[in-house]
Amino acid sequence: MKILIVEDEPQLAQSVQHFIISEGHTCEVAGDLASALYLVDNLFDIIILDLNLPDGNGLEVVKKVKNEGMQTGVIILSARDSLENKIEGLELGADDYLTKPFQMAELNARLKSLVRRVHFKGEENIVFNELEITPSELLVKINNTPLDLTKKEFDLLVYFIANKNRVLTKTGIGEHMSKDFMDYGFTDDLIYSHIKNLRKKLIKAGCNDYIKNVYGVGYKFTDA
Ligand code: CA
Repeated sequence: MKILIVEDEPQLAQSVQHFIISEGHTCEVAGDLASALYLVDNLFDIIILDLNLPDGNGLEVVKKVKNEGMQTGVIILSARDSLENKIEGLELGADDYLTKPFQMAELNARLKSLVRRVHFKGEENIVFNELEITPSELLVKINNTPLDLTKKEFDLLVYFIANKNRVLTKTGIGEHMSKDFMDYGFTDDLIYSHIKNLRKKLIKAGCNDYIKNVYGVGYKFTDA
């Protein structure tokens, strides 16, 4: 994957860059809006975008990506207090957001999920043992039998599978699930009940129970 980091804090930009390279991606860094708008023409797979830039608002980058019909995924990095910007970014078509400060593990979880989405924008299926998912049709099959899931449960399942064998925190899951801005305020209880329902449906359909509790932290999707 070819990734662009737009971030004016050099230290943060550098640690994200190191991390992304260590994950096997190539990446470029833009430290201000002007260079970001210029570099964007090189068609990246994913842009990790800080909004508060010295020479303007990072949302200009989202606008350009969408206006020009680029197939680029965008993850917004937002300060805790900039809810308006975040909502505007998602309305403009950004794919996900991450609140600063964040752990690299959270960024990685968001990246994996977005890489999946960018990759699977076509026809390809995700297969995991008896589970088969067709993202373009929001279709899940267990042992070839279709399973009815809500949109939220479907998103959760894809998020889990994209991050299999990785511990996902409740906070991270909550942020990811509430990227649809209507859900701002996704609580631990809500996450718990969506996961509980998803798990119940999967097991009832004859699927193994892959979603494990990680006590005090969150969840992990694993067949280990
Ligand atoms: Ca900034």
